[in-house]
Amino acid sequence: MSSVLRLIAILCLLLAPALALPDTGSMASDCPVLEATDTAARASLMQYVCYYSAPPGAPGHEARNPDQLPRNINWTPANGRDLVFSHTKSVYWVHLHVRNSGAERAAWYLKLNYPLLDEVTFWQTGNDTTETLVTGDQRPFGSRAVDYRYFLLPVTLDGGETRSLTIRIHSNGALNVPLSFETLAEVIARSNHLTLTHGLFYGALLVFAVFNLLLFFSSGTGYYFYNAFYLAALGLFLFAMGGFANQYFWPDNPGFANTSIPLSLSLCALAMILFGRSFLEVDRGTISETVLKGQAWFCIGFLALTLILPYNKTILLNTVLALTVISSLFIIAAVRWKQGYQPAMWYLLAWLIMLVGGLIYALAAFGYLHDFLAREALMQSAVGGQVILLNYAMVQRWRLLNQKLLDVEHNARTELEFKVHERTAQLRNTMRELEKANRKLSTLSLNDALTGLYNRRHLNNIFPELCAEARRTSQPLTLALVDADHFKNINDTWGHGFGDSCLQFIAEMLTRHVKRPRDVAIRFGGEEFALLLPGTDANGALNVCSALLQDIARTPLLSPDGTKVRITLSAGIASLDSGETQNQLFERADEALYRAKSKGRNRAELSEAVGVQ
Ligand code: GH3
Ligand code: MG
Ligand code: MG
Repeated sequence: MSSVLRLIAILCLLLAPALALPDTGSMASDCPVLEATDTAARASLMQYVCYYSAPPGAPGHEARNPDQLPRNINWTPANGRDLVFSHTKSVYWVHLHVRNSGAERAAWYLKLNYPLLDEVTFWQTGNDTTETLVTGDQRPFGSRAVDYRYFLLPVTLDGGETRSLTIRIHSNGALNVPLSFETLAEVIARSNHLTLTHGLFYGALLVFAVFNLLLFFSSGTGYYFYNAFYLAALGLFLFAMGGFANQYFWPDNPGFANTSIPLSLSLCALAMILFGRSFLEVDRGTISETVLKGQAWFCIGFLALTLILPYNKTILLNTVLALTVISSLFIIAAVRWKQGYQPAMWYLLAWLIMLVGGLIYALAAFGYLHDFLAREALMQSAVGGQVILLNYAMVQRWRLLNQKLLDVEHNARTELEFKVHERTAQLRNTMRELEKANRKLSTLSLNDALTGLYNRRHLNNIFPELCAEARRTSQPLTLALVDADHFKNINDTWGHGFGDSCLQFIAEMLTRHVKRPRDVAIRFGGEEFALLLPGTDANGALNVCSALLQDIARTPLLSPDGTKVRITLSAGIASLDSGETQNQLFERADEALYRAKSKGRNRAELSEAVGVQ
């Protein structure tokens, strides 16, 4: 903040002498006569020009025409230098003798190459006549002899004729009097050349402004709009300074033509602030933001002042403001660059060019530097460079944002892919676990845990189906109920553990004897088993059971105490009768089993068919 203030102070100091009158002392001299036909002489016109500066109160200050000038006036030779005076209240008289030493009548133009002069009056005296041309930028553009942004005085000389040319200049603000004496061809050639460079310059500015405006409309990004605003304001300012606005925009309103210069300058400063704040992403609440905000309010205030205060005051105020804004933005951009914000570097470069160009242009415009035309060209180059760099900075910023966006997208996608992989693996694992659990669950629910045979639930599931199928196909279905004999004794004698082993042994024997693919062996109670034999009649089942019983009885088991234990089974067999229910079938098999038990065990009994219809 303090550095900004210091900069403002330096600038003020730098420009303060502009209010003083730097008039040089006068020296009596006779102005030499310019030979109009001599090109080399015309090129060094300022060697032939004399001037007289009349500060307020001096005799020449109130004179309205050369006749009113005192006789003993001290004309000062320009000595080859451009006539440049910083802010002054003096009236300037410029004097020049020209002669056509040729035989032919010929035409030339005395050209005053600076458009911002309030009052300019030309007199040309020769052959006892005096012609007068009253013009200046305080008058409508129509007052000019030639429709041109600079002041042109046509001078036609007969062969051998000498004329004396006098110019009276009075202007608020700085006074630049760059003069040249040219033939028509030279005027046209120079004008063409300047038209081309100015056309290119303003055309490029306009294209950039429109392009940025379009970018704003399509993207909604604020700094494109501010950039377009800045380019338009800057273009208008330079257009007005160059005399074009006076010529083309408001030729009949010289008052506004003058006001438009400080007005467009404060607009320009405001646009610079808005664009800079947006482009540099200056955070709210920071010192930088406070400075820019304060300056923005100054700009708005100056805009209003421009309409009230006289031109020579407002132009000075606005120039100081614009240079202050440029300097502040320069410092803020440097800070942002230091903070690691890359696009600020290009912005900084753009502003450096603008700072140098603007300073030189301001010094020239205020009469501290010679050759305003060259400074104008320099300013245009600085603006051109700045515009290109600023637009490049915007591209850089866009690229940076885009890269950030791509990075975010890439990271998000990678993270997502990783998560999907992780989740898929988890899901696959869970599915595998679930499958395993399901398989276990179904085994557990339909199989007996001790023997691995099917359990009662499975019997309940398939028994009705097998009965229905047997009825439908008229194929036999036989049920054999098998019960271990005196099993309680085994448990009591050798313990439950050995009893379990015996049950597993019985299950093994059952599986071995029930061989057909559709045969089912079931443990449906403690030491009670059932065989469901689809497609097998009662006799077939009797054979199976007899073989089983024999096999079991023949195979001893080794008890924990080393005793050889022989287990026997009893079986009750019944085949499904037509019209019989599954319960009836079961009861008949149970009855047969009961009979086998009663008849001494270790045997199989057939149930008689009941013939239920
Ligand atoms: P019966 O010849 O009349 O069938 O005599 P039993 O002793 O086999 O008949 P009972 O119905 O009186 O006894 C059945 C016994 O079977 C009772 C129990 O000790 C035994 N038992 C039942 N379930 C199991 C089991 O899961 N494991 C073991 N080790 N023994 C069982
Ligand atoms: Mg039993
Ligand atoms: Mg038993």
